[in-house]
Amino acid sequence: MKPAASESAGWANSKPPLLRFLDRCYLDFSPDTAGAVADYIPELGKADPEHFGIGLATLDGHVYEVGDTKIPFTIQSMSKPFVFALALDTLGAGRVESAIGVEPSGDPFNSIRLNAENHPFNPMVNAGAIACSGLIHEAKGSAAFEYIRQALGRFAGRELGVDEAVYASESATGDRNRAIGYLLRTNAVLKDNVASVLEVYFRQCAILVTARDTAIMAATLANRGVNPVTGEQVMTPYAISRTLSVMTSSGMYDYAGEWIYRVGIPAKSGVGGGILAALPARLGLGSYSPRLDKHGNSVRGIKVCEALSSHYDLHMLNRSDDARNSIIADYTIAKNPSRRAAGRASRRSSPRIIRTFASSNSWARCRSPTSTMCRG
Ligand code: GLN
Repeated sequence: MKPAASESAGWANSKPPLLRFLDRCYLDFSPDTAGAVADYIPELGKADPEHFGIGLATLDGHVYEVGDTKIPFTIQSMSKPFVFALALDTLGAGRVESAIGVEPSGDPFNSIRLNAENHPFNPMVNAGAIACSGLIHEAKGSAAFEYIRQALGRFAGRELGVDEAVYASESATGDRNRAIGYLLRTNAVLKDNVASVLEVYFRQCAILVTARDTAIMAATLANRGVNPVTGEQVMTPYAISRTLSVMTSSGMYDYAGEWIYRVGIPAKSGVGGGILAALPARLGLGSYSPRLDKHGNSVRGIKVCEALSSHYDLHMLNRSDDARNSIIADYTIAKNPSRRAAGRASRRSSPRIIRTFASSNSWARCRSPTSTMCRG
């Protein structure tokens, strides 16, 4: 029997608020058919423009999903932050930072332009990402791609495959990226054979993910490198914080300034139609919708991120509920005792460090920064 209208509305209201919010985004933004599917890599042009999926992972490992969150698509430029983090942890910050800058370029992602030192502007544009793949190739040789694939799988919490057709299609048509590769090699940023490095880069761009995967990958970035679903420490907090930094300044290409001004959440997009957004200590969002705007960013994905930021007031520079963070909340029980705790502490040989912080998704329960529910 069909439920009465009031009953079904009651059921909808009983969904978690986050899921209701994602449902709303899905309904509101599905009719938006602006933008175009990328076809400069011919195989990408075959994507179904109607596909639309949104995943959101909180740091307690809960994943909320609406729409086409199980449809695989190629990660493309969303691989860049992860490979940059991997390069930092594999070769050391000194080596990586001596080869690749961290300034926004203000240029499109595929610009053939280097900075005044003849280095890539940052690791989020193609030149910097190809340099990162080159560094991994320097360290791992012919095992470089497999090393990258496995690392990305740890971010996602599962083994990730490759779309061989997209890889072959990009390899067959990727002369602009080859031009960037030769420019890097003549400036000694790339030390290895350009063709070998480019094959690593093209393959890493063809790794298959879903909106759900990208939400978890983003949440791992938001969680100082610990995958909130598997519990694995995937990268060091140093690599993650530097990666989030360049996502903040350069993740959305020549839209990056506008993005951080309006949305205020570190993010990265890919021409496959994905956007991932990582709000430190809060959440990871992954969306998939293949129609892109003129900057190469998913039209609906941008709308989802804008809605998330404004609905929950998540701009990262508009925080007031985090005052009790781990720095000011570290104290020794012996110096600051409650009566019961002081008794216990005095029985210990060394004072115990207590660390408190707001629960990972307290924001979801509480929208008011002054509410006591938000406090650790
Ligand atoms: N593989 C794509 C390229 O290098 C990645 C670009 C992107 O996603 N913005 O052109």
